[in-house]
Amino acid sequence: MDSFHSVSEESNMIVAVRVRPLNALECTRGQVTNVVQVHGTSNELTVQAGSSADASAGVTHFFSYDQVYYSCDPEKKNYAGQAKVFEGTAGPLIETAFDGYNACLFAYGQTGSGKSYSMMGIEALDDAALDGGPPHDEAGIIPRFCHELFRRIEALKAEQQLQVEVEVSYFEIYNEKIHDLLSVQHASASSVDSTPVQQQRPALKVREHPIFGPYVVDLSAHSVDSYSALRNWLAVGNSQRATASTAMNDKSSRSHSIFNIVLNLTDLSSDDGLSSDTDSESVPSLRQTRRSKISLVDLAGSERISVSGSNGERIREGVSINKSLLTLGKVIAALADGRKAGGGHNGPSTPSTFVPYRESVLTWLLRENLGGNSKTVMLATISPASLHADETLATLRYACKAR
Ligand code: ADP
Repeated sequence: MDSFHSVSEESNMIVAVRVRPLNALECTRGQVTNVVQVHGTSNELTVQAGSSADASAGVTHFFSYDQVYYSCDPEKKNYAGQAKVFEGTAGPLIETAFDGYNACLFAYGQTGSGKSYSMMGIEALDDAALDGGPPHDEAGIIPRFCHELFRRIEALKAEQQLQVEVEVSYFEIYNEKIHDLLSVQHASASSVDSTPVQQQRPALKVREHPIFGPYVVDLSAHSVDSYSALRNWLAVGNSQRATASTAMNDKSSRSHSIFNIVLNLTDLSSDDGLSSDTDSESVPSLRQTRRSKISLVDLAGSERISVSGSNGERIREGVSINKSLLTLGKVIAALADGRKAGGGHNGPSTPSTFVPYRESVLTWLLRENLGGNSKTVMLATISPASLHADETLATLRYACKAR
């Protein structure tokens, strides 16, 4: 029997799916076919599952999301490249940030489905950006978001007196432990080849701040005043991530990476906001500051890790990846239930809905970016290849629970 899954209308969570093209290896393997079809420009897709030897042969699974991006269209009529994906997913979060709300975008999918391509893009092609040039065509969501952020800051500064503070931090979570990706000896924002010291550093801990919520103790944070300074820190973090990954057999696919941007905007031309109801001149003038934290997250590969033949370290890794992705799934499902039960568009959850943020380091740290008034985008990435159909279906079902 055919099955149908869909996401509902109203939410402060956007769920987008991106289908990557078949890669060269898949194209040369005769038995690999494209099992994912996107219908016209709609946000629906189907997956043809099961081989002819399989009990589920011929089953067509229907899915519908807020957005679907397809890159397999040979005529490129509906082709979704990096710019289009950015504009639909992260673009609106720039507005959210300037309005003073938190935002979060995370890429979810099996290893090789296009998470890093979507989040970072092909970094080697983006060298010009290190000198302040605009992102390359192949640049992903993070560099595009940072570029657009500073473009907007400059435009706003030209219109009004504004004090702007932008701070970035970048870390990864591996086996429930946090490692700073921007903590480099004698590093400066203009140096991308500093010696990584991450491996020698102890894992960092999470604590609760009374106002700003959970934070990582001793995580380095760096002030930046231009896109090129920010882009350089991003390159420092990516090179640390790659070095640690090479040293540990492609660890990056088994760790979550979180790039945080904190934006503080103070309108210097107004004394409104907190002191606006002054009936006494003795009340000090407090300028209005808007603060927003944006988390851009490249999650660990969602594939089920086979325990047979794995050593203790791999089993530990598998357990912690499953735990954090499962908890993330539970958290977004609980938030969605809370909204449906009466929280409304911006409602975090009803008092009766328990949201299990603290069951994993990832969700604990993303708490202020997932609930309340914050906007969240889930970008589920999938492969269209028949040999990945089971993982593709698992990703698509996970994405449906988010709404
Ligand atoms: P993941 O981060 O999920 O493990 P990657 O982003 O590294 O996967 O993608 C695997 C490979 O597929 C890379 O070589 C990447 O350049 C390519 N790729 C992924 N998505 C796309 C896409 N939409 N268009 C073109 N190439 C893609």
